[in-house]
Amino acid sequence: MFKSGFTFDNSYARDLSGFYVPWQPQPAPAPRLLFLNAALAEELGLDLASLDAGQLADLFAGNALPDGAEPIAQAYAGHQFGGFSPQLGDGRALLIGEVLDRHGARRDIAFKGSGPTPFARRGDGKAALGPMLREVLIGEAMHALGIPTTRALAVAGTGEAVARGAPLPGAVLTRVAASHLRVGTFQFFAARGDHDRVRQLADYAIARHYPDLAGGTAPYLDFLRAVVRRQAELVACWMGVGFIHGVMNTDNMSIPGETIDYGPCAFMEAYDPGTVFSSIDEYGRYAYANQPAIAQWNLARLAETLVPLLAEDSGEAVALATGAVDGFVADYQACWLATMRAKLGLIAAGSGAEDDEADVALAADWLALLQAARADFTLAWRHLADAAGAGGVAAGGTALAALLPDQPALAAWLARWRARCAAEEGGDAPAAAWAARAARMRRANPLIIPRNHRVEEALAAASDRGDLAPFEALLAALRRPYDERPEDACYAEPAAAGFTASYQTFCGT
Ligand code: AMP
Ligand code: MG
Repeated sequence: MFKSGFTFDNSYARDLSGFYVPWQPQPAPAPRLLFLNAALAEELGLDLASLDAGQLADLFAGNALPDGAEPIAQAYAGHQFGGFSPQLGDGRALLIGEVLDRHGARRDIAFKGSGPTPFARRGDGKAALGPMLREVLIGEAMHALGIPTTRALAVAGTGEAVARGAPLPGAVLTRVAASHLRVGTFQFFAARGDHDRVRQLADYAIARHYPDLAGGTAPYLDFLRAVVRRQAELVACWMGVGFIHGVMNTDNMSIPGETIDYGPCAFMEAYDPGTVFSSIDEYGRYAYANQPAIAQWNLARLAETLVPLLAEDSGEAVALATGAVDGFVADYQACWLATMRAKLGLIAAGSGAEDDEADVALAADWLALLQAARADFTLAWRHLADAAGAGGVAAGGTALAALLPDQPALAAWLARWRARCAAEEGGDAPAAAWAARAARMRRANPLIIPRNHRVEEALAAASDRGDLAPFEALLAALRRPYDERPEDACYAEPAAAGFTASYQTFCGT
C-alpha cells in the first residue's frame, strides 16, 4: 500500500458483507502505464501528480494498492443469451473501492484483468490489451456523445502474455462506474431464495442511485419503475447513434443505467435494423433493432427478483411487477421520439398524440429511406443537418443526395420535413432559422463515431507492435464527435464495403 490521491469510502464492502469475497489482485511481472484518463482523474478528485511513472504503473496494474482500497470480487448471476447461470461473479475483476467525485457522486473504482478470483471458473482471470483499449475507446466515445457509460481511468500493461489462441500482451483496465450493481446481482440472491438479501440489495441500490424514493409508500415498486425508465432512456440513446451492445445479458445490465461491459459491441455503419456483429450471437438475439425488446426482457428478470418485496399477496405482487415492466414500452417510445426529434432538428414536441404520430412517421420514413439505400447511418444524419443549412433542400450533387440515390423519394420526404420545420417558425422559415437548426442538428448528430475499421487498426497497432499512436489519435477525435476538423476527416469515412460485410466482434477477452 502507498499513499495516493484516492480518498476511499467503501460502502459496498462495509454495508453488504456476504455479497462478495475479499480478494487481492495478482501482481503483474512488468507493469507499464499505457493510458491514463487525466480528465476523469480530475473529475474524481484524484491527486496523482506526486506519483512517478513507475508508481502509476504499479498502482494501475494492481501491484501496489492505494491506501484505503478494499478489493473485493462481487457475486452475481445472469441470463446469458437467454439461459440462466446462477453463479457468474467477478471472475477477473475486483472492486477496489469507491470515491466521491467532485460533484459528490459515489463512483466505483474497479480492476478488470487483475487475476483469477473464486468466481473465475475455468477462466485465467486475465485480459488482453486489445479488448481493454477497446473499452477505453468505446466508453470515451459514448461519454463524449452524452450517453451514460462506465469509463476507463487507466490501462496498464502487465508484461505478461495471455493465451488467447495466440499469446497476446496482457493488461489491466481500471474502470469507473456509478456502481457495478447489475440485474444479475439481484438474480444471484433471488435464485438462492435469499429474499432478505434481495431486500438489502434493493435498499442499498435505492439509497445509492434513487435516494428520492427512500421512505415512500412503495419504494421497491418505485425503484423498479425508475430502473425501467433509465434503461429506456439508455437504449434510446444507443439507437440514436447506431450502437449495438452485442451482449445484453442480465449481468451486463447496470442498475444505475450506464452502458457497461464493452465486449463485442460495435457501431453500425450501413443502416440495417437487423445488424449483428458479435461472432457468438448466432440467432441475432442482440441485433440492433432487438435491443429495446431485450432490455425489457432483462427488466422482467429484475422484476421477478423483486416480486416478494412488492406485496404480501403474490398475485398482487406479480401484477405490480408486470405493470412496471410493461411501462417500458411507453417510456422507450417517448425517449426514442425525443431522440429522433433532436436528430431531425425539431424543437417543438407538438401538442398531442396526433403530432407524436406524425413525427414518429416522419422519423420512420426517413429510416426506411436509409435502409433501402443501406446508407451510412452517421453520415446520413449529418448530411441532413447540411441540408437544413441549405434551407431544407438537398439538390443533386450534394452528399445527402449521393447517399440516398432514390431522388424522388428523398425529395418527397424532404418536402414533408421542410414543412414540419417551417411550421415551427409559423410559416416559411428565414435563412437564419435554417442556419440555427443546422447548428442544433450538428450537436445532435455526431460526425465522428468509433468506426470499426479505425478501432481495429488502432488496437492492432497497440497489440501487435506496441504502437499507441493510432489509438491516441483516434481517441482524440472521438472526444470531439460533433466537430468538423480537417485532421479528423479520415475518422468520419465509412469502412470499405468488404470490411463491414465480414466484420465480426468477439467477447471482450
Ligand atoms: P463478460 O462476458 O465479460 O460479461 O463475462 C461473463 C462472466 O465471465 C463474468 O463472470 C466474468 O467475470 C467471467 N469471465 C470472462 N472472462 C474471464 C476470464 N478470462 N477469467 C475469468 N473469468 C472470466
Ligand atoms: Mg459482464
